[in-house]
Amino acid sequence: MIVAKFGGSSLADAAQFKKVKTIVDMNPERKYIVPSAPGKRGPGDDKITDLLYAAHKAAAEQKSFRHLLERIQARYVEIADELGVEMDFAGEFARIEAQLKAGASPDYAASRGEYLNGQLLANYLGVPFVDAARVVRFSADGRLMEEETNALIAETLSDLRRAVIPGFYGAEEDGTIRTFSRGGSDVSGALVARAVNADVYENWTDVTGFRMADPRIVPDAQYIATITYRELRELSYMGATVLHEEAVFPVRKAGIPTNIRNTNDPKHPGTMIRASAGPDDAGHVITGIAGHKGFSIVSVEKDMMNAELGFGRRVLQAFEEYGINFEHLPTGIDTMCVVVHEKELAPHREDVIRRITELVQPDQVTVSDHLALIATVGRGMVRNFGTAARLFTAISAQGISIRTIDQGSSELNIIVGVDEDDFEAAVKAIYDVFVRT
Ligand code: ASP
Repeated sequence: MIVAKFGGSSLADAAQFKKVKTIVDMNPERKYIVPSAPGKRGPGDDKITDLLYAAHKAAAEQKSFRHLLERIQARYVEIADELGVEMDFAGEFARIEAQLKAGASPDYAASRGEYLNGQLLANYLGVPFVDAARVVRFSADGRLMEEETNALIAETLSDLRRAVIPGFYGAEEDGTIRTFSRGGSDVSGALVARAVNADVYENWTDVTGFRMADPRIVPDAQYIATITYRELRELSYMGATVLHEEAVFPVRKAGIPTNIRNTNDPKHPGTMIRASAGPDDAGHVITGIAGHKGFSIVSVEKDMMNAELGFGRRVLQAFEEYGINFEHLPTGIDTMCVVVHEKELAPHREDVIRRITELVQPDQVTVSDHLALIATVGRGMVRNFGTAARLFTAISAQGISIRTIDQGSSELNIIVGVDEDDFEAAVKAIYDVFVRT
């Protein structure tokens, strides 16, 4: 059995709704459907969720917001009319207007996008609607209560062969509406998939899956057929995003694969994300490349540093005191390098250097900026002798010097740091050596 989540662009207008119905009807295993609110129909268009937040803001500032609600209502009415679905939008919008006037929260306002879209889709598909406020439970401080939610969804859906459950929101015990962070319908879909123990969690969007490299750098980058949750995490951390970060946990824990699919190209199998996968089914030694710019390296040098107990801890303490996260710690015998986000370091640069000096009396502390980090990730790397050598050779053949290297002991990834100006050329070089040759 399949849980299928459809994102905002997949439900942006009536034509997209028709594609969604075709997809749902194509496989009777697609029993539980989780929709987002209508997204952009094209560049320059509005997302319903953004309009709802704008309406809330205007209401909170005692400004007029009726025109915004009218625009939102018109979008739903247009979709419903074209699909031949009857719904009492006038009544729904009168209620929303009254709630906003009475001081309803931004979460309430935003949730109406999914709430109404869920009903519209349920009507169109002829499937029961289950309000997420009944089954997705938040605590009074706005955190998801995952186990309660799991039990509520499982119990409610056990009576329903099929259902539409809107994404993005839920409610506290007393009915107060809460939402996830933006893009959170992915999380709702994952929670439903876990609760009904789906065979697959399908996440339908407007891209055909993950690509092996950013297409802005490698325009013809191949799609990744299979990736593990761990690899995905490494790549997303470095900037490759398709899924909401928190959507991974419920399904990963339950051993349910996530399949990224394209509503506009439903024949394409997309990317399958699994708990584990054989190293050989990747087809390439590497699974993907991701990276970004904007890092600094703080190098702390001191002779005999290796013999000084607590040296590393004290260096990191200086960063912690100023609330700066470290990303990597490439370390030699007498040097320790701390790689951090440039913009986190910038406001505290002098203070951090002063604290390091006080705490460990180094011989020298230097900072160099404008570093880009590139992660090359692949479960196949561990089996392939010489992967690191190929990677370094490919980069240096372009005349690019590598400023830092970090390889996790899992051998799932190799991270290199290069000058920002060399970032794109280095990504291309890595792609070429592992994918094109
Ligand atoms: N509609 C919400 C948003 O725009 C949630 C989602 O699309 O997943 O963030």
